[in-house]
Amino acid sequence: MTTSPLFYQAGPAMPEVSHAHGVFLWDAQGKNYLDGCSGAISCNLGHGHEAIRDAMLAQLDRVAFTYRTQFENAPAVALAHELVAMTDGELEKVFFVSSGSEAVESALKLARQYFVARGEPQRRHFVSLRPSYHGSTLGALGVTGYQPLEAPFTDITPGSIKVPGPDFYRAGQTDRGAHIRHVLNETRAQIEAAGGDSVIAIVVEPVGGASTGARLVDKTYLEGLRQLCDEFGCLLIFDEVLCGIGRTGHWFAYQQWGVAPDLLTTAKGLGAGYYPVGALLCREALVETVMANGGFQHGHTYAGNPLACATGLAAIEAIRREGLLYNVTARGQQLKHGLESLQARYSWLGDVRGLGLLWGVELVMDPVEKTPFPAEANLFAKVTALAKEEGLLIYPRRTLDGLAGDHFLISPPFTISESETELLLERLASALE
Ligand code: PMP
Repeated sequence: MTTSPLFYQAGPAMPEVSHAHGVFLWDAQGKNYLDGCSGAISCNLGHGHEAIRDAMLAQLDRVAFTYRTQFENAPAVALAHELVAMTDGELEKVFFVSSGSEAVESALKLARQYFVARGEPQRRHFVSLRPSYHGSTLGALGVTGYQPLEAPFTDITPGSIKVPGPDFYRAGQTDRGAHIRHVLNETRAQIEAAGGDSVIAIVVEPVGGASTGARLVDKTYLEGLRQLCDEFGCLLIFDEVLCGIGRTGHWFAYQQWGVAPDLLTTAKGLGAGYYPVGALLCREALVETVMANGGFQHGHTYAGNPLACATGLAAIEAIRREGLLYNVTARGQQLKHGLESLQARYSWLGDVRGLGLLWGVELVMDPVEKTPFPAEANLFAKVTALAKEEGLLIYPRRTLDGLAGDHFLISPPFTISESETELLLERLASALE
């Protein structure tokens, strides 16, 4: 067999995929895998969704690509209206991109340009959490708090002020209020040390994704961040690349806490695995200021093309038509109970947390001390490999900052049925056994 020229394939050899349908994928040997993590938390409507396929084919037959400065295209306008409506009009403007990193990059650049336009060029710092993940391009990586990814680039990225986020598992449920105050005080102290009028924006994921294993924030925390932003005159950016577009049972995760951002990024679930689509949503006043001062100096070739936007529209329509936000909540509860009964069986499943169909399981050596397994144990990779042997795909990570340890995400497609959710839990139980 010749060696593959692809160089992104780290880790053990992978089976070759043959085909996929619904929540299952088959390899070339005919083995099936239940997609317990929607690919990369992106194939949110499962595989082979007919309505999305039909919408894409219809758009392909009409026109696949136009450049945004040459034509207005109906799918882009319609998708932008949809997204605004999904925020209940709280964010009125949309800028399309093709990936999560591009969405974050666009948010950072728009925010900076806004302050330059307002005559506040001294604002040049972003504030973000450690751990966190916001993307792989240099700007998005600069606000990412995840050491292995940052390490080679710290001296060439814009960087950011890294503050701790809430970790309710380690703080313990009883100390929740005190923990939030502590985290917010720390954030304030670091902003003050840098100079309150030097900050452009605070960037945060309303529900942590891969970097934290679905760590949650809460209303008090987000209100606290909003207050800090208002006090220091900076902007609040919510990164909903992973948790947006229905993943938590709400169109956007922030909506359940009632604290709105100034800018919001989303991607993964928008194209639902069928086509890369991302978006930056933001307040109109920001855009007006930037557009009145030379326009937004930013853009990507494939952004907002008709095929991308027709795909995004079809995905949103399918979620609405099939009542999938309800299924996300119902199957989410089923998963929660199943994961909690596994946790009762295995003490090393330290924490089970999440919302909707976004669940994280943190693995610890000692459930009382909450000590992580040593990195050499490579536990997250072992659990993932065992799950795959049992025919279940999960999304693993290890936080290497000494702040936590191994965890994995369970985040199946919104279309998963009750019996498929049972099967997911059975396969996970076999792998953990
Ligand atoms: N932000 C968050 C919260 C993410 O989870 C990701 C992807 N895992 C990104 C940004 C980057 O998205 P992409 O991989 O599409 O560039």
